[in-house]
Amino acid sequence: MGYFEGALFGTSIQDVDILRLPAAFSPTTSIGDRAMNHVFTPPEASSLAVADSDLRFPVRRVYCVGRNYAAHTREMGHDPDREDPFFFQKNPDSLLPGGSILPYPPASKDLHFEIELVCALGQGGAKIPTDRALDHIWGYAVGIDMTRRDLQGEAKKLGRPWEAGKSFDHAAPCSRVHPVTRTGHPTKGRIWLEVNGKIRQDGDLGELIWPVAGIIERLSSLFTLAAGDLIFTGTPAGVGAVERGDVMVGGVEGIDEIRIEVG
Ligand code: MN
Repeated sequence: MGYFEGALFGTSIQDVDILRLPAAFSPTTSIGDRAMNHVFTPPEASSLAVADSDLRFPVRRVYCVGRNYAAHTREMGHDPDREDPFFFQKNPDSLLPGGSILPYPPASKDLHFEIELVCALGQGGAKIPTDRALDHIWGYAVGIDMTRRDLQGEAKKLGRPWEAGKSFDHAAPCSRVHPVTRTGHPTKGRIWLEVNGKIRQDGDLGELIWPVAGIIERLSSLFTLAAGDLIFTGTPAGVGAVERGDVMVGGVEGIDEIRIEVG
């Protein structure tokens, strides 16, 4: 199937309207520019706000690390001593800015929060050595790796991909990006999340099994990384479910906080 047929197949103009990103993800070019030479107006590129700036951080890919805190690895039924880091992706258009309402996703009755430190790359590369990895980071943010735990559990049991559990619409709430010139490279500090004012996750970045530099070294041995890639670095213990009307507030000491209401 050629590109033209592929672009038309399965994608109606109506679908594209539904998939339009929220107003917070503002386009950098006019609709007229973007529509040229395409069979329909291409979707807007995803981006995140940059703290204390009118500039935005353009997002290319969203990588996530699985099971990167020992206590969380144990609560999910695995042995933290035996595992190399492993990765999955979320779709860039599933990013949701802090302060938003997250619509309860379809097909699940077990929507879980996972508070995570997010690193935002300003440079890419392949096979990046650990001792040069931190030079590739533009800044840090705070994200929540929202998970349809029931669908993820079913996928694990059947040996299927985690896609439906991890990559649904609005699955990646994320704060503003803070430049590393302000934050430095955090190696310890509280990472926490509360639901309706009650603390649910309370860990420390010092507990990361694979620190950020090691994550970048491993990830870049599998994929060529590029400026604009985000990495959700894993969650501490205490993950759990939220219901409609719940308010999640989480943060990473020295970085930022994020507030998301489940709608
Ligand atoms: Mn996670």
